[in-house]
Amino acid sequence: MLIIHGQYQRPRVLGYVADYCAHCRDLKAFAYKEIRLVSHLYFIPLGRGKVQGQAITCTTCGTMFEAEASRYRNVLPSLMMASVEELAHATNPQALVEMAERLEREARMLAGELSAQDRMQIIVEQLLVGDLQVQARKAQVHFDLRSILILLALIVDGTAVLCVLLSNTTTSGFLSDVVTIAVVLVIILFGALVHSLATDPARFIRRKLREPLAKSLATLSPSLDELTAALLYLKQHKRTLGKELDPRWLYNATLANQASENMMGPAKVNPG
Ligand SMILES: [Zn+2]
Repeated sequence: MLIIHGQYQRPRVLGYVADYCAHCRDLKAFAYKEIRLVSHLYFIPLGRGKVQGQAITCTTCGTMFEAEASRYRNVLPSLMMASVEELAHATNPQALVEMAERLEREARMLAGELSAQDRMQIIVEQLLVGDLQVQARKAQVHFDLRSILILLALIVDGTAVLCVLLSNTTTSGFLSDVVTIAVVLVIILFGALVHSLATDPARFIRRKLREPLAKSLATLSPSLDELTAALLYLKQHKRTLGKELDPRWLYNATLANQASENMMGPAKVNPG
């Protein structure tokens, strides 16, 4: 008999803090979570589990980052604060200082005052934030794969039980039909599963990630050579984003974002 047991991660929101979101490139409110590793038997939790770590999720873009509990002075129970700056004063005043330093560094980058190496570091950092989301997506898909494999095992189990139950009362022709249908179903499901898993990271990057990434990179005005080198660096370090993202596409998308920002910029300040 198949016994389904193991452990799963259970996040629980403890409250809210402010921090810099590397994806939004701004100071943002985050949900602060405790991640517990809970044992289960047939998906019924056995106890409250052990604390595995802490994480924060940006309430604007949904990106999750690992967090250190010691970083936050307080965790507020709700988002009743008037502004994210007030939330930062209450929970994480250091984020305001870091934010100012980061903005100053990026202003220097745009003014052409940074060395090529420092520029590259900022661009790679920004790409790594995108890759973090690809890794999170892969972990989620991996978890789904496990659930589906368990489901397939249950189908096979169920079919075997059905065969035993029916073997005394029905003709062998009917029995072999049931087995054939079950086997074909399992093969089709498995094929569809393997195909969707193999194409998932590329599709996720194309549909969900590359547009916002181009927007966040546009403010840094990277050249095509810089993007090519940064993506190559990621590729050499076995990061999925380095393999799947085309530097020329990214470069053109950053240019398009800059053009639309330039068009929107004067419209905002023009009173007429
Ligand atoms: Zn964000």
